[in-house]
Amino acid sequence: MPEQPPTAPTAAVVAGVAVDTRHWIGGERVPSAQTFTDVSPIDGRTLAEVARGGTDEADAAVAAAREAFPAWAATPRTERARILHAIADGVEKRVEDLAIVETHDNGALLRSHRRGVMPRVAHNFRFFADWLLKLEHEDFDTRGHTNHVSWDPAGPCVLITPWNAPLMLATWKVAPALAAGNTVVLKPAEWSPLTASLLADIAAEAGLPAGVLNVVQGYGAEAGNALVSHPDVRRISFTGSVPTARHIAAAAAANLTPVSLELGGKSPLLVFADADLDLAVDLAVEQYDNAGQVCLAATRILVEASVAEEFTRRFTRRAAALTQGDPRADGTDIGPNIHPRQLEKIHGFVERALGAGAQAVVGGGPDTELGGLYYRPTLLTGVEQDWEIVQEEVFGPVLTLQTFDTEDEAVALANGTRFGLAATLATGDSERAERVRARLVAGTVWVNCFFVRDLRAPFGGSRHSGIGREGGTWSFDFYCDVKNAVTAPKGWRD
Ligand code: NAD
Repeated sequence: MPEQPPTAPTAAVVAGVAVDTRHWIGGERVPSAQTFTDVSPIDGRTLAEVARGGTDEADAAVAAAREAFPAWAATPRTERARILHAIADGVEKRVEDLAIVETHDNGALLRSHRRGVMPRVAHNFRFFADWLLKLEHEDFDTRGHTNHVSWDPAGPCVLITPWNAPLMLATWKVAPALAAGNTVVLKPAEWSPLTASLLADIAAEAGLPAGVLNVVQGYGAEAGNALVSHPDVRRISFTGSVPTARHIAAAAAANLTPVSLELGGKSPLLVFADADLDLAVDLAVEQYDNAGQVCLAATRILVEASVAEEFTRRFTRRAAALTQGDPRADGTDIGPNIHPRQLEKIHGFVERALGAGAQAVVGGGPDTELGGLYYRPTLLTGVEQDWEIVQEEVFGPVLTLQTFDTEDEAVALANGTRFGLAATLATGDSERAERVRARLVAGTVWVNCFFVRDLRAPFGGSRHSGIGREGGTWSFDFYCDVKNAVTAPKGWRD
């Protein structure tokens, strides 16, 4: 274990909630000599000094996960499921704390953290606990020999997660990995590190043995890189950007560690002339959720030319009614973006598009009255398919609008990027919906709805949106070493 420097800050209080800002390794709180500053996107205030891990902490955490693995893997499934349900109970008891800390840390709406996200975090644990108990260990016969197919735990797993939905995305990985009998090292994003630390407390109180869940804090290039390069790691699951994924895939290749990659998107919303136009407008405006920092966001609106003018008119009216401001206020629809660097990146995309001839029908720049990290919800028209603004993920409240005349053209535009995460259709014609959805390259297609997510369903992306799927059996498929044992019948040589 790395030596514990006595002077490094070890805790923070965020809106009345105490958060330990050290790592959680082998059932102990471990500081680092160095820390990094965690700042709130709401008002730029410093929230915490957080332990900044590196190779030493990564090695210690993987060693702790290795040591804890045999006992946890051998723990009966019913007992593992019981502990996961106890973690869910603990999350439910602390929904308010988790919601408040997450909102201060990443700027997403407090009301959606309270009512939607944190209850879903608890559900993630319940769901995978229950799914574990339903997993079939299949038996079948080959000329009198029994085949026994089992879902064996794989070993220590490294889970690397982003800042846009920190605890939600982390627990999509932590819950199935633990349910499957693996031990885990979680490295949350450095822009939103705090709720992962609260999760460690909750898991320990729920009776999860020491070393089964470890949390290493720090930067991607330091702690993250050391973890994904570690030869004792049996699975790496990553949610984040394409450039980081390339790096992680290369590091994993050196050790032949299996990787799951959930990456970015540039998803389309296809609005056909036969759609309920008000519904289509609602679906489009929903894409500003979380200030546009949603991997699934349908940021390319493709509208049939005959209804484009009317759609734009209604959209503009709806967008003008959105309230932007403090994410802690109940009436707020759009909060801040995460970081000055992100705001700069978003505005760079918009400025280059405007410079190339796009028009900002809505928004087009940072909110000068609110200041800080608030970017006005933006809709750009007059863009071309090969422009950067249409091809690259902006990850901010910026949508583009293009028109099409035929179904073929709509599909070509929809599929015309390197991504393939999701697609949304607005149409009143069910036969068209079936035809079009079959031709779309996307891990998820929504028809006349958006963001409906059932953990039984596969979730993930095609092309540069990722490798692999999460959810239900797909998660266990990734986190398990599936084994077939063939046993001869008794006395077969007699
Ligand atoms: P990012 O790639 O910058 O960082 C993600 C995580 O990777 C962080 O924890 C970071 O510290 C870590 N990391 C960075 N460099 C690393 C390295 N060399 N080795 C190991 N770890 C490293 O992504 P981000 O900006 O935090 O997140 C936004 C991106 O995530 C967007 O592209 C978004 O679309 C994507 N995303 C995808 C999904 C999905 O399910 N498909 C969900 C949410 C976000």
